[in-house]
Amino acid sequence: MPRFLEALAEAERFHGHLCPGLVIGVRMGLAALKLLESSRSKDEEIVAIVENDSCAVDGIQVVVGASLGKGNLLVEKYGKMAATFYSRKTGEAYRLLFTQEGGKKLFSVLSETGFFSQDECARRRSLEAIENISDDELFKIQKVTVMTPPQAQIRKSVACDECGELTMETLTLAVNGKLLCIPCATRKRYYEPAS
Ligand SMILES: [Zn+2]
Ligand SMILES: [Zn+2]
Repeated sequence: MPRFLEALAEAERFHGHLCPGLVIGVRMGLAALKLLESSRSKDEEIVAIVENDSCAVDGIQVVVGASLGKGNLLVEKYGKMAATFYSRKTGEAYRLLFTQEGGKKLFSVLSETGFFSQDECARRRSLEAIENISDDELFKIQKVTVMTPPQAQIRKSVACDECGELTMETLTLAVNGKLLCIPCATRKRYYEPAS
């Protein structure tokens, strides 16, 4: 199992900067691996269901090996600093909530040890202090059951009858005898060709 600092360094490379959110995500991911007695997910053995789309999610992705591309990262936008980790192997799942007390603890340790200073050495030393905070001090941990998240599937693509672009068949809509992609069917899309 990767140690906190190693995992955090890897997460920082992925995320682009070092921030408290990333620290929370990395700690959450490490706690989940411990609870599930698992190593990082190579394929989709572990599914992470995150309840926000903050910096913490990047920490979770790196530590747990959950990603959008593999289909084992699901987002339920509840706006809470919480995530559930499900093991396909054992069927076990744990929901971890970063608590208010955990927040107070983390931020007091971070500020006491100089994380918010401009001194890079102090910031790094501060991270070592984070390792001494226990999972129970940071998170409320619940054993939960979740409906088995569907495994990612490779689906066939078909050409949209209007724009002709290849589209995953399950995401096409039948409209007046034509098979249309979502933007053609709804006449709504997020872009317009620049003139
Ligand atoms: Zn960040
Ligand atoms: Zn189309």
